[in-house]
Amino acid sequence: MSIVHAFIPVLIPAIEIFAIAFVLYHLLSFFWNTRAMDLAAGTLVFLVFFSLANWLNFPVLQTIMRYFVNAAVIGLLIIFQPELRVALSKLSMKGKKYEKLTEFDKFLDGLCNSVYRMSERRIGAIIILENQDSLDEYAAKAVLLNAHFSSELVESIFMNSSPLHDGAVIVRGTTVLAAAVILPLADDTSQITRSMGTRHRAGLGITQHSDALSIVVSEETGKVSIAREGIMTRGVRADRFKGVLRSLFTPQEESSTVRSRLQKWLGAWRHS
Ligand code: ATP
Ligand code: MG
Repeated sequence: MSIVHAFIPVLIPAIEIFAIAFVLYHLLSFFWNTRAMDLAAGTLVFLVFFSLANWLNFPVLQTIMRYFVNAAVIGLLIIFQPELRVALSKLSMKGKKYEKLTEFDKFLDGLCNSVYRMSERRIGAIIILENQDSLDEYAAKAVLLNAHFSSELVESIFMNSSPLHDGAVIVRGTTVLAAAVILPLADDTSQITRSMGTRHRAGLGITQHSDALSIVVSEETGKVSIAREGIMTRGVRADRFKGVLRSLFTPQEESSTVRSRLQKWLGAWRHS
């Protein structure tokens, strides 16, 4: 008992240091290269002043700064709302949007056909696949369709002569929710290259604000890009397209089939 008591004064600061280092590391790695880093420098300068005022015991300055801190916390929560939303959605377990494997496979075939037909014909397009975060706020400001997905529908939306071709299409499950959707543009400078116009920035931007997946077909080059969680992969070839989407959106059914197959295999192995 006395040994434990002797260790407590050492153990508590050690645990505290470890916890603070852990939180700081994750905060830094999450906000690195984002606009949050610019504000972090300002916050640091403020904290230095705050500590100085505390240390020198300036009562008026201390009171002003205390009020300022209260307001700043609310301000920061508002400014970093998108980043916090992504961070919180990353913490939660993400379900899958597609419930039936056959339905998903059919949808994937149609999507792949339309995307690569548009790519061949150099028809520019942005298709957003909604995941767990609702994209209603973007759809509400666009043209609501609520139509069953078909490759013909998607291709006709993006034809240059279509009044809906400007903007993105949002797909929820196997329903084309809305067209002519205006998306937020990406603000992560490290991902953006000179050749990236507004279509690619919009395709990347929505993935920084939600857990959606975006598919961009370039009108200039015909290249297909896929973006998710603020990272864009450019020049995705047709043979990899379905694999990438399947790995991200595979319905529960498949995992349970794999599990049941594994259980069957283990059962057979045990009995042999
Ligand atoms: P491309 O390779 O196809 O030329 P790009 O990345 O160079 O694409 P632009 O040439 O600027 O981009 O593409 C303009 C088109 O991008 C617009 O006609 C519009 O359809 C789409 N677009 C631009 N901004 C947005 C936005 N905020 N949300 C959705 N779509 C957008
Ligand atoms: Mg362009």
